[in-house]
Amino acid sequence: MKVCASCFSDKELKGFISSSSAIGDCAVCESKNQPLLNISELFDFFQELLDNFKIDESGMSLSSKIQSNWSFFSSHGAANKILNYVLPNLQTEVIS
Ligand SMILES: [Zn+2]
Repeated sequence: MKVCASCFSDKELKGFISSSSAIGDCAVCESKNQPLLNISELFDFFQELLDNFKIDESGMSLSSKIQSNWSFFSSHGAANKILNYVLPNLQTEVIS
């Protein structure tokens, strides 16, 4: 799955994606002719992010936690699509 900078509001990540030379249509937010990055290239980044989380007892879903702790994604829709794709590919004790 390929994503564009508009899917995120994180400055560092936007910059990283914007520097990609692959241009096309975003699979997540459907922006046209954007620099795209294969999301698998961000797995390490997400892994690191998730490693900062511990299971908490509020039962809050991981994606809401990420969304509420970081204004990381540009929208809830983008967050859900991306996390649904990324999380099963990561190894973390947060998902159990
Ligand atoms: Zn996008």
